[in-house]
Amino acid sequence: MRLPKFEYLEPRSLKKASEALTADPKGTFLLAGGTDLLVNMKHGVIQPKRLINLKAIPHLNYITEGKDGLRIGALTTLHDLASSTLVQDKYPVLGQCALEVAAYTHQVMGTLGGNLCQENRCRYYNQSVFWRSARAPCYKVGGEICHVVRKSKECHSTYRGDMAPVLIAMDAKVKLVGWMGNRTIPLKRLYTQIGKKPLSLRKGEILKEIFIPSPSGQTLYLKWRLRGTLEFPMVSLALHLEKNGEGNIDRAKVILSGLGTGPLEAFEIEKMLKGVSLDDGVIEKISNQMVKEISPMRTSIASPNYQRKMAGILLRQGLEKFKS
Ligand SMILES: Cc1cc2nc3c(=O)[nH]c(=O)nc-3n(C[C@H](O)[C@H](O)[C@H](O)COP(=O)(O)OP(=O)(O)OC[C@H]3O[C@@H](n4cnc5c(N)ncnc54)[C@H](O)[C@@H]3O)c2cc1C
Ligand code: SF4
Repeated sequence: MRLPKFEYLEPRSLKKASEALTADPKGTFLLAGGTDLLVNMKHGVIQPKRLINLKAIPHLNYITEGKDGLRIGALTTLHDLASSTLVQDKYPVLGQCALEVAAYTHQVMGTLGGNLCQENRCRYYNQSVFWRSARAPCYKVGGEICHVVRKSKECHSTYRGDMAPVLIAMDAKVKLVGWMGNRTIPLKRLYTQIGKKPLSLRKGEILKEIFIPSPSGQTLYLKWRLRGTLEFPMVSLALHLEKNGEGNIDRAKVILSGLGTGPLEAFEIEKMLKGVSLDDGVIEKISNQMVKEISPMRTSIASPNYQRKMAGILLRQGLEKFKS
C-alpha cells in the first residue's frame, strides 16, 4: 500500500511546530515514529494535507530522574524506554509494558508520545478504503451512522494503547505546549472518552513530556491479545497497590485498555480493594465483580462477554501476584 501525497514540514522547535499545526489543525498531523499514523494514512482513514515531523526538533528524547520523579521526553522511543537501566532499576513496569507494544520494529520507531496519542480503533474503521467502501461512512469518518451500535448517535471506537493504563495507574502527568502557552495535566485528563475525538489536546498543542512521580507501592501490567506478538490488547490491565504495615491495601488503582473509548478506571473495584487484605476469598469476590462492572462494545473480533471474562481473569492474576 502506498502513502498518498502530502506536504512535509520539519520545524526545528516546538514553537514553530505548534504554529504550523495551528495554521490548519484539521489538515495537519504530527508525525513521531509514524507506526500508527502512516498505517492510518495508507488505509485512507485519515488524509492529512501536511505532516509535521517532530523528530527534527532537538531535546525531545530523554529520560531523567529528579527528586520528585521521572521525566520522559515525548520522542523517547519505546525501545529506549525498555533499555534504560534507570527505568529497569526503579520503574521496571514501564519497560515491561513498552516491550508489550506491537513488535520490536514498532518499539524501535514508536515513541512514548505517539503511543499515548494514538488513534482509537474499530473493526469497521481500521480497514482499507476498498473494504470500507461496501458500507456507508460512519461517524468517525464524518458519516451519520455507527456500524457497531446501529441506533447510537456517537462513535464507540476503542482505545487500545498499552502505555497509558500503567502511566495513569502511576499518577503520571503530561506537559503540553502550544502557541497559547504550556500546561501540565494528569495523563488521565488527556483522554476525553469520546470515540470521535479521543484526545483533549487544544488547537496547536503538542505533548512534550511525561512525568511520573517517584514510585510508591507496586504496579504491574497484564495484557491479553489474540496472538503472542504484534497485537493490540483485546483487554489489558494495570494494577497499582499501596499497602500499609499490616498488609492491608491503602490505595488501589485499576486501569483497563481495550474496553472503552479511553483508558478505563474501574472505580468500584478500587473502592472494594481499599482496606482489605488479599486472600483467596477477597480475590474471588473482587475479580467476579470486575466481570459485572464493564460493558465493552463489539469493536473488535472478540465478543464483549469474552472480554468481560478476560478482564476478570487478568484482575485475578494481578491480585494473586500481590497476595503475599
Ligand atoms: C501492527 C501494529 C500493531 C500495533 N500494536 C500496538 C500495541 O500492541 N500496543 C500499542 O499501544 N500500540 C500498538 N500499535 C500502535 C503504534 O505502533 C504504537 O502505539 C506506537 O507507540 C505509536 O508511536 P509513534 O511514535 O509511531 O506514533 P505516530 O504514529 O507517529 O503518531 C500516533 C498519533 O499520535 C500523534 N502524535 C505523535 N506524537 C505526538 C506528540 N508528541 N504530541 C501530540 N500528538 C502526537 C500523531 O499525530 C498521531 O495521530 C501498533 C501498530 C501497528 C501498525
Ligand atoms: S464505533 Fe461506530 S462510528 Fe466509531 S469507528 Fe466504529 S463503526 Fe465507526
